[in-house]
Amino acid sequence: AIEIRDLHKYFGRNEVLRGIDFHVEPGEVVCVIGPSGSGKSTLLRCVNLLEEPTSGTVRVAGVEITDPEVDIDAVRRRIGMVFQAFNLFPHLTALGNVTIAQRKVLRRGRAEAERTARQVLERVGLADKLASYPAQLSGGQQQRVAIARALAMGPRVMLFDEPTSALDPELVGDVLGVMRELAEEGMTMLVVTHEMSFAREVADRVVFMDDGVVVEEGPPGQVIADPRHERTRTFLSRVL
Ligand code: ATP
Ligand code: MG
Repeated sequence: AIEIRDLHKYFGRNEVLRGIDFHVEPGEVVCVIGPSGSGKSTLLRCVNLLEEPTSGTVRVAGVEITDPEVDIDAVRRRIGMVFQAFNLFPHLTALGNVTIAQRKVLRRGRAEAERTARQVLERVGLADKLASYPAQLSGGQQQRVAIARALAMGPRVMLFDEPTSALDPELVGDVLGVMRELAEEGMTMLVVTHEMSFAREVADRVVFMDDGVVVEEGPPGQVIADPRHERTRTFLSRVL
């Protein structure tokens, strides 16, 4: 569902992605791990064109999104993205936050958008918080609203960039639980995370990045439990 080939990204003269190749099959969960500054967020941002790749190709759900002819808005509709910061509208309720993009981007009518919003908010365990404003929700609940907002658009793939790293430790579990359920339901997911237990238990494959390249990838039982490369070992010894 996601295919990345020889992806390069420069910021000025700084080459941040130096030839990335990997793929995520439909229904697969791939976790990207690696040190700060290794290019993980830039990689994710290239997959939904928040950043323009300098060269290389990215295909999502059969569409080559790096083709200059491509309709960027149509591409983004197929890709759900969840960031570290939830970016909810403070003046809208949970229901309002999950409804608005469906109405503006997908041009759904109010009744349909609200029906979908209720369904996805229920799915993330927030059926009783529809009328709450972000300020009245915990960080974990706000992040689950953000996940529901992405799901309401009917994405083909979901991208997560450290979705739990801004949360208090006791709130992390609820968000990871929702992600785990999504994975079990067969959602295609590309997840940048520092949560090694999540990567170990949920990922089909783990990709270790350092300094703009994929150093190694494989099942978590190999990359996390028995890494082949010194750089992977050094990184894991710091985070585990
Ligand atoms: P972290 O774990 O801290 O989130 P990361 O692996 O996500 O790190 P990136 O955010 O992708 O790393 O950054 C990779 C490199 O690209 C860094 O050196 C960063 O300074 C640089 N960089 C990222 N975004 C920009 C930008 N918009 N302009 C210039 N340089 C950038
Ligand atoms: Mg990052």
